Amino acid sequence: LLSSDGVVAPTIFAEMSALAASTGAINLGQGYPDEDGPAEVLEAARQAIADGANQYPPGRGIPRLREAVADHQRRFYGVHLDPEREVIITAGATEALAATVLALVDSPDDEVVVFEPYYDAYAALVALAGARLVPVPLEWPLFQPDLDRLESAVTDRTRLIIVNDPHNPTGAVFDADVRERIVALAERHDAIVVTDEVYEHLRFGTPHVPIATLPAAQERTLTISSAGKTFSVTGWKIGWLSGPEPLVTAVLAVKQFLTYVNGSPFQPAVAAGLRLPDAFFTGIADEMRRKRDLLGSGLRLAGFDVGVPSGSYFTVADAAPLGVTDAVAFCRALPERTGVVAIPLTAFVSPEHRGRYATMVRFAACKRPGVLRRAGAALAGLR
Ligand code: PMP
Ligand code: GLN
Repeated sequence: LLSSDGVVAPTIFAEMSALAASTGAINLGQGYPDEDGPAEVLEAARQAIADGANQYPPGRGIPRLREAVADHQRRFYGVHLDPEREVIITAGATEALAATVLALVDSPDDEVVVFEPYYDAYAALVALAGARLVPVPLEWPLFQPDLDRLESAVTDRTRLIIVNDPHNPTGAVFDADVRERIVALAERHDAIVVTDEVYEHLRFGTPHVPIATLPAAQERTLTISSAGKTFSVTGWKIGWLSGPEPLVTAVLAVKQFLTYVNGSPFQPAVAAGLRLPDAFFTGIADEMRRKRDLLGSGLRLAGFDVGVPSGSYFTVADAAPLGVTDAVAFCRALPERTGVVAIPLTAFVSPEHRGRYATMVRFAACKRPGVLRRAGAALAGLR
């Protein structure tokens, strides 16, 4: 995690956001929204502070939020959870992932299967746990895994299969047969499925299907989500994890020494958010789909080959038609050339597989329509 000269290497998100700040460019790199989320949720946090929710909350999270998470999983997915024993609140999805990997992976022979490109924290956490990362490639333009490759990646050494659906950075949503195969392989090799569903409500087609709803999955699946994306509060860092009690207890044992507890005034506010009417949740998906379309048409007019994401904040565009051979150099120069920041897809890829994604760029669509239009107009200068 340190660069060769011994300093902490900034994450790609920090590097690119700093570039956006120093050049004044439009930041389509780091995925965070440029508008506030629902007023009720923001007001609930202000009220909680006024009401004195300012000291340590319980380690598992406040009961009101754990109940809201359980009710949310039942309301949207028909999953029944005991909020006392099968749900914990974490410092964002990131802490849930960190505590899970540290709790369940304990030997250098343990393997963790991920789908590549992957959210950068997965590889860092597996490295911190001292285990081996086994990436299964997702290929342009649909970004679904090849089932035979998946099958050979999962072995008796596999402790975890980390799934991210909808997927960052590609915007893919896994096909039903992929989900089924993941569960079948986890069962065959006695592995645990860890599913990162932070974009669960940003789906542009069919409704979200959590892996935990598949037959045989519930007993070996830990489901992770967070408030950041759904309520546009990425800085609040309130996440949650649910699953079978023995696994949740193991994760809690680690979580209590990572952050102990977190975000007391934000917890009741997120509980209020999870209880918002259905129209809120369908509304954010519709809005994000319009943003995806606006960004996609700008990128197409600029000359990129553009994937069509089924969910999440992100769109992947191939810059090869613009004569680009190295998306890292292209993204470093892009703010000066066009006033737009984006992230090379290789930032989400292990070093030995970077060639496969060398010309691809991730753009974030979670910005106001006027910003996306300005970015499209600026990128048109690339032609
Ligand atoms: N997983 C994925 C796939 C993400 O894109 C992000 C970024 N927000 C996270 C986890 C981290 O979520 P949080 O901010 O809730 O820790
Ligand atoms: N999830 C966001 C992204 O992928 C932000 C991640 C971060 O800043 N660590 O851009």
